[in-house]
Amino acid sequence: MSPKTFKGGIHPKDMKEISMDQPITVLAPGKEMVFLMSQHIGAPAKPLVKKGDTVMMGQMIAEAGAFVSAPVFSSVSGTVKALEKRKNALGDPVDAIVIENDGLDTEVSYSPAELSSLKKEDIIERIKNAGIVGMGGAGFPTHVKLSPKEPDKIDHILVNGSECEPYLTSDYRCLLENSGELVGGLECILKVFPGAQGVICIEDNKPLAIEKMKSAVSGKERMRVEVMKTKYPEGAERSLIYAVTGRSINSSILPADAGCIVNNVDTVIAVYEAVIKGRPLMHRIFTVSGDAVKNARNYDVRIGMSYADILEEAGGFKETPEKMISGGPMMGFALFGLDVPVTKTSGAITCFLKDPVKENPASSCIKCGRCVKGCPAHLMPCDLSDIADHGDKEAFTERYGMECVECGSCSYVCPAKRPLASSIKSMRRTILAERRK
Ligand code: SF4
Ligand code: SF4
Repeated sequence: MSPKTFKGGIHPKDMKEISMDQPITVLAPGKEMVFLMSQHIGAPAKPLVKKGDTVMMGQMIAEAGAFVSAPVFSSVSGTVKALEKRKNALGDPVDAIVIENDGLDTEVSYSPAELSSLKKEDIIERIKNAGIVGMGGAGFPTHVKLSPKEPDKIDHILVNGSECEPYLTSDYRCLLENSGELVGGLECILKVFPGAQGVICIEDNKPLAIEKMKSAVSGKERMRVEVMKTKYPEGAERSLIYAVTGRSINSSILPADAGCIVNNVDTVIAVYEAVIKGRPLMHRIFTVSGDAVKNARNYDVRIGMSYADILEEAGGFKETPEKMISGGPMMGFALFGLDVPVTKTSGAITCFLKDPVKENPASSCIKCGRCVKGCPAHLMPCDLSDIADHGDKEAFTERYGMECVECGSCSYVCPAKRPLASSIKSMRRTILAERRK
């Protein structure tokens, strides 16, 4: 069968060979660990500790601030040094708990469980109590995602193993090294939705992962692996749903309205750890890549560890990078520095010796239409970016600017190097912020 895909999209050089063949390396946490209260979509978590308190690894240090929120757990044992504002990867100051790591990893005890003994409600409760959120970047609390209005209509649980973003290989390594946990997590979610099929979606540039997962799901009646065409942004939620089910959604239709729930690989593994082992979310797999780093590979890092500590443990830079990106080059964002903590949603740092934007200044549009052809949301990025640059919110909304999935394809293919995606993204975020108010 030919690989499944969506309409539109582009083919950037994937650059995965830099880091994909090295096994995941576990990193020791830093001396100072910073836990942000906003690591998810929804209300910030509320601190449960004060300065001077002693904490254990696995202890809840902040509780969920509302139903759409998630608790935060200490990933080390030590002493609370401060409750203060610290900068997130975007440079915004947010409330944080700072813990001095005592290096002992004194851990709380957990309550493991057999899946057969758990009811649907118990599974969702264990996911909620473990602070699991979408670890692919969105940070939407997983217990909310698994509680749709009409659960009986859910017929597809999609595991997003496409990993279409160039340079990133953490999902790939998890598919190879943690296939058992992934299948275990998917079994937990399928128990919540008895009418659904579990589909593990992997792009056809990852044959070893496809083979590994096909063998891991063999004999599992409600699970299968779907091979996806290697194309960017195959892993965007809407692209994936369309490719697998043929159903189209837009910004006013939830995936659940189309019978689908999409989770990324790391999240499903975290679900297994929470439901079966009783362990809260305290670590994640993190790609370090780009031509400026000495040891590009994937690291198992504790949440709260700084990017600076990760880079140091990973061997540092070959030369000072001109550009550092949190995430990958298509959907990530430029970092102002490395004094930033890993959160539940931080997946990668990509460091470049040269800044491609600085080297290629923008010129005028030559009306080639490449941005229109590549846009997976079927928009006119050339016009939308002009409208955004003029600050015309009404026209931007009328021309469906809010349907942009912020994939960056338009900027990537533009021969005039116009920063289309950043103009559209910034206008979109301004309108979303106003709507939230
Ligand atoms: S307009 Fe948005 S969705 Fe379309 S290509 Fe550009 S960034 Fe992607
Ligand atoms: S790709 Fe660039 S040059 Fe071509 S139409 Fe779009 S904005 Fe204009």
